[in-house]
Amino acid sequence: MRVDKTLRAARDRLRHAGIAPDEARLEAEILLCASLRRERAWLYAWPEARLNTEQARQFEAAIQRRMAGAPVAYITGQREFWSLNFAVTPAALIPRADTEQLVEQALTLLQDRPRPKVLELGTGSGCISCALASERPDAVILANDISHSALAIAEGNIRDLRLDNIEISPGNWFEGITQRFDLILSNPPYIASGDPHLQRGDLPAEPGIALASGESGLDAITHIVENAPDYLRADGWLLFEHGHDQGKAARALLRQRGYRRIATRRDLAGNERVSLGCRPESSATPPAAPARR
Ligand code: GLN
Repeated sequence: MRVDKTLRAARDRLRHAGIAPDEARLEAEILLCASLRRERAWLYAWPEARLNTEQARQFEAAIQRRMAGAPVAYITGQREFWSLNFAVTPAALIPRADTEQLVEQALTLLQDRPRPKVLELGTGSGCISCALASERPDAVILANDISHSALAIAEGNIRDLRLDNIEISPGNWFEGITQRFDLILSNPPYIASGDPHLQRGDLPAEPGIALASGESGLDAITHIVENAPDYLRADGWLLFEHGHDQGKAARALLRQRGYRRIATRRDLAGNERVSLGCRPESSATPPAAPARR
């Protein structure tokens, strides 16, 4: 079958499967590109080209997986973030455009610091640390995750992008961390466990521990805000992503713990998305092994 007809038919099937009309066409194109190993421009340059049997079989399998609810990124095995290409599997959250705001803010906070030491908690696919490392080759980054299968993905991405300033280590938040950093950042799980949003879109296919965090969604953020001062240098920053409606709660947690220069930044959609604070004045306690999550 011809490329153009194949695309139209696939788009219609995806629409019938409940995918938004404006997304169905784009998704069909992305999946076809993956089956043909071509760029999207090629589809438009060669509408009359024909798929061979193997390509047609692969594309059909991809469309069927998509109709059954698999996220496009898990089918193609990749997703772009910060203009870099990342391998993704169901072991890690799919990188999101909103999260680029976290990288943006990290770069701003580290602007005047040569060779900054950075800790990323819960790195997943590694996309945040990789984006940061690509912009700041002088930074020394430690990225951890509780999930060994996620770390395997991160390790592959770091290797593929040829970044030599990220070290990864298994660990649950601050577990095993013994140094102090200029910046601690995280995109932790922050969705309330009962939020119906968890049942929509790509989320059911993503790892639950990367998404949901207790009844209020704030368990992980609370733990991070509480413990980060023990791992920050005197003028170090904590920076984390949160839900569009959690800005106020995030600032309150930072305030209660004594952080200074607290602020929240919005994402491209105009939602409050990341909050930050500078280490409280009095935090001379040496790093101690945290007991719980
Ligand atoms: N922003 C993501 C979503 O709502 C969740 C990411 C996260 O929990 N860290 O789809």
